[in-house]
Amino acid sequence: MSCIEHKTTSSPSNGEAGRDHNPFDVMEPRAPQKTPVDRKNGKHVKANAIPPQGVYLPNNNILAPHMKSPEYVQLSTAAAITLGIMGGRMYGCECTRCLNLLLTYPEGCRANCAYCGLARHREADRDYADRNFIRVDWPAVPMSDIVDIVAKDPENSPFHRMCISMITHPRSEDDTFTVLEQWTDRIDPDAIPVSILSNPTTMTRDDVQRTKDLGADIFTVALDAATPELFDRTRGKGVQSPHKWSKYWDIMLEARDIFGPQKFGAHIIVGMGETEYEVLNLVQELVDLGGHSHMFCFFPEQGSLMDHLPATPRDQWRRVQLARYLIDYRGVRVSQMRFDEQGRVTGYGVPATELSDIIDEGIAFRTSGCPGKFQDDISACDRPYGDSPPSDIASYPFAPKKKDLKRIRKQLDIPVTLE
Ligand code: SF4
Repeated sequence: MSCIEHKTTSSPSNGEAGRDHNPFDVMEPRAPQKTPVDRKNGKHVKANAIPPQGVYLPNNNILAPHMKSPEYVQLSTAAAITLGIMGGRMYGCECTRCLNLLLTYPEGCRANCAYCGLARHREADRDYADRNFIRVDWPAVPMSDIVDIVAKDPENSPFHRMCISMITHPRSEDDTFTVLEQWTDRIDPDAIPVSILSNPTTMTRDDVQRTKDLGADIFTVALDAATPELFDRTRGKGVQSPHKWSKYWDIMLEARDIFGPQKFGAHIIVGMGETEYEVLNLVQELVDLGGHSHMFCFFPEQGSLMDHLPATPRDQWRRVQLARYLIDYRGVRVSQMRFDEQGRVTGYGVPATELSDIIDEGIAFRTSGCPGKFQDDISACDRPYGDSPPSDIASYPFAPKKKDLKRIRKQLDIPVTLE
């Protein structure tokens, strides 16, 4: 299987109400509503006895209560297209380099994170297998079918990495081990390395160790919120969700110990109310620990408790993207950068010509995540349009072309010097 990247175009965007960043007081999630008893905990789905049959496309509405991990997993639309189990085209790229898998259960994720399409409160109006997550549908597929396809020729697979996303569920750890084992039994993890996107809330150090022993290469923690206050508001008691900032850090530090330098990291969503200074300090802290940050631009996911809020203005996002890249991969320290009184980046701590060259390379503006086979600072996990529509790209799932870079420079408010 091959994969070709194509040119793309994008259109301008502005922050809402003329804002060039999303401040804390604006980014307040809605309060979750009470779920009717007959929809709680997947009851409505579990009341059926329909066996699952092959690929389940979201909105099939067949209510298959036995469609659950470890036998079944959900996978991103991009991965399903790349695998050839779903038709369709992706704007600007023909495939994804990362096979993103998601554990699945009729009762779904038991957490209630405010920005997330998989959150528990959605059981009131949408079955788990039909929920959108990072802007796209996630078809459910037997894990054995996925392994059968990839195991035919792992060395020449378009996938440079596989990732298992755990959710908050009592079976999450055991099923992650089983799915991982099913993969590494047939596919050499040196040919296609595996990342774990963990759910620290229910995990112990032994669980982290077990993922390593079973062949995982990188362990990440979806911290998502950049400060303890934001974490609590969007993923903790602010939205009746079980997560705790301290537990996420505990598990990340266990992962640092077990997986070692450059093999652990954290996901961070930019634009949920933190300042640029706060998020870049977190990026620096992760680098100082020996890890990496994987950034997402906040997008108001339909059906989530934050779907009424503005997406991150592109200038805030571009400043953070560029500064994060400099800290993560170019040895620049946050202490060398300058910030205004609202915490916005005003200086990147490198000479203008060097900064210009780095912008022109375009890598800083690509999707960030675990590396693939091209080079360390190019993520396998390209998540096409997971944080923006193709008309206003936040994270580029392909190398930005000249016209993209021209637009990026405008968004950064740095003069255009491209010919
Ligand atoms: S734990 Fe993860 S999957 Fe579950 S609601 Fe929170 S962000 Fe979504």
